[in-house]
Amino acid sequence: MAHASSDQTPATWRHSAEVALRAAGLRCTFPRRAILDWIAAATGPFTAEQLVAALEAQHGSSSRATIYRLLDWLQSAGWLTRIYSDGTQHAYARFWPGHHHTAVCVRCGSAAVISECHVEESIRPALAALDFEIHGHVLELYGVCTNCRTRAD
Ligand SMILES: [Zn+2]
Ligand SMILES: [Zn+2]
Repeated sequence: MAHASSDQTPATWRHSAEVALRAAGLRCTFPRRAILDWIAAATGPFTAEQLVAALEAQHGSSSRATIYRLLDWLQSAGWLTRIYSDGTQHAYARFWPGHHHTAVCVRCGSAAVISECHVEESIRPALAALDFEIHGHVLELYGVCTNCRTRAD
């Protein structure tokens, strides 16, 4: 993986996502910077509507279309991932481009990135029997993070 987990801080995410945005030919306008700032500061998964409401509270207005377009771009470029285990499939979490999975805490909503993946190798014998060609997979792990377990003790 290109990124060691120790480099995956919110500040590095904020910087790298802006660099990628510029590299894709998108201008880093004030609304886009405000969106990146807010996502970088988020402590767990969030929905697009939470982002819309927060930016409206901060700046008095926000363009819903700008927010949704940027979220779509960030997700397609790998800087955000959809969280499935909340049942709505509308929550996003910060992510890093490349093949990763997330371990989502069901208590606080934090999403840890897992960069190791051997899923397809581990089920290859079963797939061989089906003669099925895999194009990708979705895997999300959910449970309780260290912080939440420590607090409960
Ligand atoms: Zn937690
Ligand atoms: Zn995988």
